[in-house]
Amino acid sequence: MARRFYFEPPRRRLKSTLVNMKSLLVRCPATSKLTDTGQTIEEKLWSAAKVKAQKFTCAHCGKVHSWTKADVILGRPL
Ligand SMILES: [Zn+2]
Repeated sequence: MARRFYFEPPRRRLKSTLVNMKSLLVRCPATSKLTDTGQTIEEKLWSAAKVKAQKFTCAHCGKVHSWTKADVILGRPL
């Protein structure tokens, strides 16, 4: 009769201390370049986030662009 040993590995819940922050990037309509709005958000919060239309001064063309959530591309923080 075979002896069976059952080993149950200790369950360690890894605390997700690493927060996945993303930069809010918007594509400049004049130069088609991505511009950092200077804002960041935790990635998992983005889908539920309510973002009002905002304006920023574009670093590429110097004009003020307005953007909404639909315009945003989440990117790595620079
Ligand atoms: Zn621009």
